[in-house]
Formats: sequence, C-alpha cells, structure tokens
Amino acid sequence: MQFSNPIRAETTVHQVPGFSYEEIDRIAEQTFRRYTTESLPKRKGKGVAIVWFRNDLRVLDNEALFKAWVSSEAVLPVYCVDPRLFSTTRYFGFPKTGGLRAQFLIECLADLRKNLMKCGLDLLIQHGKPEEILPSLAKAYGVHTVYAQKETCSEELNVERLVSKSLQKVVLSSSEGQSAKPNSKNSTKLELIWGSSMYHIDDLPFNCNSLPDVYTQFRKLVESKSKIRSCIKIPTSLGPAPSIRDWGCIPEITVLGLEKAKVSKGMAFVGGESAAVSRVCEYFWSKNLLRTYKETRNGMLGPDYSTKFSPWIASGSLSPRFIYEEVKRFERERESNDSTYWVLFELIWRDYFRFLSIKQGNSIFHAGGPRKVETNWSQNQTLFEAWRNGQTGYPLIDANMKELLTTGFMSNRGRQIVCSFLVRDMNIDWRMGAEWFETCLLDYDPCSNYGNWTYGAGVGNDPREDRYFSIPKQAQNYDPEGEFVAYWLTQLRALPKEKRHFPGLLYIKPVVALKFGNTKTRNSKTMASGTRTTADENKCKGHKGNRTQ
Ligand code: FAD
Repeated sequence: MQFSNPIRAETTVHQVPGFSYEEIDRIAEQTFRRYTTESLPKRKGKGVAIVWFRNDLRVLDNEALFKAWVSSEAVLPVYCVDPRLFSTTRYFGFPKTGGLRAQFLIECLADLRKNLMKCGLDLLIQHGKPEEILPSLAKAYGVHTVYAQKETCSEELNVERLVSKSLQKVVLSSSEGQSAKPNSKNSTKLELIWGSSMYHIDDLPFNCNSLPDVYTQFRKLVESKSKIRSCIKIPTSLGPAPSIRDWGCIPEITVLGLEKAKVSKGMAFVGGESAAVSRVCEYFWSKNLLRTYKETRNGMLGPDYSTKFSPWIASGSLSPRFIYEEVKRFERERESNDSTYWVLFELIWRDYFRFLSIKQGNSIFHAGGPRKVETNWSQNQTLFEAWRNGQTGYPLIDANMKELLTTGFMSNRGRQIVCSFLVRDMNIDWRMGAEWFETCLLDYDPCSNYGNWTYGAGVGNDPREDRYFSIPKQAQNYDPEGEFVAYWLTQLRALPKEKRHFPGLLYIKPVVALKFGNTKTRNSKTMASGTRTTADENKCKGHKGNRTQ
C-alpha cells in the first residue's frame, strides 16, 4: 500500500498488524485452535522439565516446549533477562539492543506469558545470566532436563556451553545421599533443539560444512531433496506448572537501562505471537496481499508492500513452518502463483544465512568476512555519524536511516541501498553499519544481518552478490514520485516531485560525492549489477529465479 496523501500521512502511525487488540486476541485464539489436538499419545514423562525460552518466544510449533511437556509431569517455562543482551556491540560499542527492540521484546514476553497461561502454564521471568539462574532452578525443582532452542552464533553458543557446564554440577535431590558427586545420571541435562529455520537442519541433503557457496545451488538442492516438516501440534492443556509463589514481572524498559521509546511516525509493530499470527492473517487472508507480493516487495513506503514478518520471526514469535503451511493453504484455497512462491524463496534465503553461520563461524563478524578480503576501510566518525543520523545530503539514504531510527524497521530495498552507500560511496568499515543495524533493527538476527552485510560489502562467500546500488537509478525505479523521501524528510514536500531526490541547494550539502556520479557516467557493467531486478525477474520462468536485488 502507498499512502494516498503523504502530507496527511505525516503524523500517521501505522500499527502492524492493523487490527484492534480484541481482534488480535480473537485471531490468535482461532489459530491456536487449529494447532491444538486432543489426539496426542499419552504423556508418560516424570518429574519437572524446564523450557528455557530464548529466540523462540512462541507456543505454536515450539518443539522445545512440546518435548518438555512430553518428558515431564510438570513444565516450568523460564525466560532469563540476560544483562549481556543490553551491553554494547563487539567492536564499536553501540547499545546491543536499542529501545524499540527492547520494547518489542517486552511485548513478546507479555504475550508469551498470556498464551502460556491459556494452556495452564505461566512464564517465570528472572533477571540474570542463564548459567546462574537455570542450575539454581534445576536444583530447587529437581529438574531432569532443560529444553531450549539451539542457536548458531558465537555469543549464543558460549551461553549454551556455560549453561551446560553449570547444569552438570547440579546434584538432583532424589539422588542425594546415594552419590554426592554429580554425574550424567544424577545431574540436569541440557537438550538443545533445532527450531529456527523452515528446513530442519537434520533434513538437509548435505552436512552444513559442505553447504553450497551459492544460494541458488542451496535452494535447488533443498527444494528437490528435502521436505519441510509439519508444525508441531500441542494439547489444549500443557499444565500443570510447578507451584511457584512469584513468577516475576515483565521488565519495564527503564529496568533494562533504556529509555521508553514510542514510534511517532511510520510503522509501529506490536510484539508477540498473537500479533504475529494476526499479521499473517492480515497479509494473506484479509488483504489478499500474498497474491501480489512479488510485484510489490521492493517497495519502501507503508505496511503492505512486503509481509513485515521479520521482527516476529527474529524473536521466534512466528515459526517459518507456520508461514509455509499458511502459504500452502492459500495456494489450495485461493491462488498459487509466483508471488505465493516468492515468500518461500525469501524464507529460504533466511535459512541459507542461518546454515552459513554454522559453516563460516566467526568469519561473518570479521572485517575481511568469510573470503578474508583485505580492504582499507575508513572509520571516519563524521561520515559515519552523517550516515546513521540520516544527514548525508542524499534524501534516499537519509529517509531510510530516519525510518530506521524512528521505527526500528527498514525495507529490504532500503537496507541494500544504505549498505552500498556506506561501503562503496563512503568507504566506511561495513562492521560499523552492521553494528548500528544490530542496535536498531526490530528484526535483528546475527545470521541474516551479518550475512547480508558481508554480501553487501563484497566480503561474503559469493562474490557475485557484490553489488553497487546507484542512488539515481534506485530513486528512479523505486521512488519515482519522491513520495518515500518526502514522507520522511518533510522539507522536501514543497518541492516538485522530480526535484525531491536531488534538491541541490534546497537540502543538506552531500557529505561525499557518489563513486559513479549519476547513472549516465557509470560504466555499463556496474549499472547492470545494481539494476538487475526487472531483467532477472523477467528471465525467471516459473519458480526458478536467481537472487534479484
Ligand atoms: P519480506 O520481503 O516479506 O520477506 C519475507 C521473509 O523472508 C522476511 O521476513 C525474512 O525473514 C526473509 N527474508 C527476506 N529477505 C531476506 C534476506 N535478504 N535475508 C534473510 N532473510 C530474508 N533480515 C532479518 O530478518 N534480520 C536482519 O538482521 C537483517 N539484516 C539485514 C541487513 C542488510 C544489510 C540487508 C540488505 C538485509 C537484511 N535483512 C535482515 C534481510 C531483509 O532486509 C529483511 O528480512 C526484510 O526486509 C524484512 O522485511 P519483510 O519481513 O517484510 O520481508
């Protein structure tokens, strides 16, 4: 959707999804009903199991939660507010979690608690490091197993190692007296469960270490050789929970050391699983937008040009397999076309970056990236500040960066353009851009963020993804009327449409010259690389497209 009147839209906040809170609750309830069943095998487990929620803040299609239920007589759901999540980024010391994502997380936790309570459980919220909290809970409640979703990047893996080590020291009280020394039989186990991707890691037709270096090869192999597993159905009641006096409060944002953040313009995302399934319902079923996704997905303005699922997928409030099942249902009940397939095509990109993070390890965080490319990056603070504050003098860059600051979101098109500008036109160290995205993005996910940045900076594993995005050309193709820039940069509204992208003296003086000037002066090879979208997509017959940008 484009705003029909950008002037009036100045102060409009578009809540995503656009339903009332009552409607969100109703849609969530209906969806839950479809994914619960009475015909499950009888629960045979013993004792207490913990489900330690991490980036899987959902009840539907959550295997860790399901396994905790099956293996126990009582499930204790726990979330640890880990102070490390609110410290600073790796190299440049930005806040690790910005205010808008923290607010989104708070809403996710409140909604998770609400949905767990509907299933006869609750959510224990504790402040501190999981490696300290979980062993003490395990000891107090005689927990035989802690179930959690497996992660893939170093910071998360480190926490997994620490938790596993500290749980090994727990001696469960039932075995006290028999042996004072912890061993694998009398201590609490940590069971890590894969659950973040659409294709399950165990169903890949290759080992992650031999993952193809080219996305298209990966996609074709998984599409032809792997099957996407069905969502896990859960019983209507997951209770009982152990009896606990104080379940802890959902943290206030100020307790996390951050200031209250409120979206004043643009899109305001509602956190939580109920909003997530409602957004799927809105985008697919109410507005019928799945039918045209492939034609609109490169837009930049408003909630409807793309799905906007990413913030919920990143927090784990939305399962990619649930989206897959909804796409298939839509194809059965309404229409199957290139657009319905293209949402899955993009989700396969997400899977690819996740599996790449296993193969490439920490190299995705290093300046030279997986290919160890040596580049003389600048870390010029003045230029970087101009970029991150949206004051470069290029409206297309500035409008996108202001959207990120104001809402925590930026379109995929915008991300590619501002990334290319930072690394190619400004020659700034791409890690500064990636870390700033890490701070601000509602949908921040280390695999997708650093994966995309390494590609954008030309240090990713596939040099063919190394592209220059020409601002004049991108403006002409994706914001021809200047509506997007005028929405975010109000001073441009008074200008004629054709002047909005290059307002000259009527706007801030550009902080750097463009590497290739305007479209006419750029060499044809570079032009082709930055403007592949239409040509490639036209070439794409049926479902066999290349990555298009
Ligand atoms: P849609 O176009 O509706 O796509 C549907 C889903 O497919 C998305 O929700 C997302 O899960 C997945 N997807 C689409 N494009 C990509 C992609 N290029 N890489 C991985 N997954 C994709 N995405 C994140 O989720 N987290 C990030 O931290 C992140 N950082 C990025 C940084 C840069 C420099 C760039 C260029 C892209 C980044 N992306 C990231 C990918 C992409 O921009 C967002 O996923 C997308 O814009 C989210 O909007 P949407 O949900 O409306 O996407």
